[in-house]
Amino acid sequence: MKCDLCNEEGVHIHLMTRSYGKGENLLVIENIPVMTCQHCGESYLTAETLHEIERIKLHRQSFAITRPVAVAGFSIPHDALNRNIHSNTLQA
Ligand SMILES: [Zn+2]
Repeated sequence: MKCDLCNEEGVHIHLMTRSYGKGENLLVIENIPVMTCQHCGESYLTAETLHEIERIKLHRQSFAITRPVAVAGFSIPHDALNRNIHSNTLQA
């Protein structure tokens, strides 16, 4: 398969799971084909794949099945947040 970006042979397809939105609107899409080029090292989604993702998002009620899933939120320590706010203030 040829790469869309560098036009050389050597594209592999990886199936990935991606999530869109958050909270009540969280939608998980499995088996999204991601093209990875061995030649130029880029990873990208084809136009058809992006189109299909948009279609799934639009019609999530008919495409998606509800499954109990573990969702973990990354928690940032409060002092780290404060440090960021502080350094942003200093830079401004
Ligand atoms: Zn390439």
